[in-house]
Amino acid sequence: MIGSKINLNGLPLQQLEAFVASMGEPAYRAKQIFAWLYKHKVVQFDDMTNLPESFRQKLKEIAAVEKLSVVKKQQSQFDGTIKFLFELADGKQIESVLIPPRKSAVDADSRFTACVSTQVGCPLDCKFCATGTMGFERNLSPAEIIGQVSTAQTLVEKPITNIVFMGMGEPMLNYDNVMSAIEILTSENGMGFTPRRITVSTAGYVEQIKRMADEQRKVKLALSLHSLNNETRSKLMPIAKKFGVDELLDALEYYFKKTKKSVMLEYILFDGLNDTDNDVLQLVKASRRFECRVNLIPFHSIAFTHPRGFSAALKGAPQEKILSFAAKLRRYTIPVFVRSNSGEDIDAACGQLAVTNSHSEPEAHALVAQ
Ligand code: SF4
Repeated sequence: MIGSKINLNGLPLQQLEAFVASMGEPAYRAKQIFAWLYKHKVVQFDDMTNLPESFRQKLKEIAAVEKLSVVKKQQSQFDGTIKFLFELADGKQIESVLIPPRKSAVDADSRFTACVSTQVGCPLDCKFCATGTMGFERNLSPAEIIGQVSTAQTLVEKPITNIVFMGMGEPMLNYDNVMSAIEILTSENGMGFTPRRITVSTAGYVEQIKRMADEQRKVKLALSLHSLNNETRSKLMPIAKKFGVDELLDALEYYFKKTKKSVMLEYILFDGLNDTDNDVLQLVKASRRFECRVNLIPFHSIAFTHPRGFSAALKGAPQEKILSFAAKLRRYTIPVFVRSNSGEDIDAACGQLAVTNSHSEPEAHALVAQ
């Protein structure tokens, strides 16, 4: 609800159908509104020209379309990465990032990735992540998740082609809203994204990994792994105390057996912590249980959050060590990608998203009241 009006943004088609039915309109009107909102990015009822005038008037009285307001847009001077600071209807703020591919990439002209947030803050407190220092405020609604993509798209010319749920928050702790958003993002009558160009990343929620498999979700799965040693992983990610490595690998094996889809293992290389030959062998052993790709990620400084204790002591492995770790994995025929530092100069690289002033006044939000 927005005031006394129903917010139509983010409603799954079935709910939109129920809404138009409650107004005495046939179901196809819901499909028309759905297409206007997501396919044509039209948010004013007056511009929905295939709806009868009388219906548009009624919509204006009882419904509205809420969208995100852009507080700040920053662009990296080195690689073109763009970071957005969005404000939500309640004044809370989130960040999202648009990442162009490296110029050397084979699909450099065609790929443009949106990294979106799923929560305001995050409760998981991973020790290498700026978002973790914010604490948790609330889950994002489907409209707020979709809105990051649709609003960002209106501000850049190049079409967004890929979406990764790797921004602020743990997607699996907001499972239903994330999946509702994905349904709209991938609906042919909605935003039309190909599911295989969408990746959901988790810190390791075993039940939800299995649920994705059981529900045969077509999007890709990534696991924020970083170590196969329980002790090391627990130091980096407190959630690892709840779900141990064995349980996690069992869940990934279950996922692969059910979906036949490869899993991306994200691995930040820390100097002297998880970068030994034994770490390589543990990854090789895990990779024999299910099909996977390893994404090696350089550690991006979160010094701007003034980390203490274990966080403050974390140091990224030097580039030559990252390349040598990758080469060792490749010798075992494991597909490996080394992620770039895209956006590091604007604190938009992996693990750097954080909003420090997320309690600004709510007047600035962009409700498109009709
Ligand atoms: S890495 Fe992801 S799960 Fe961990 S604190 Fe950051 S946002 Fe949360």
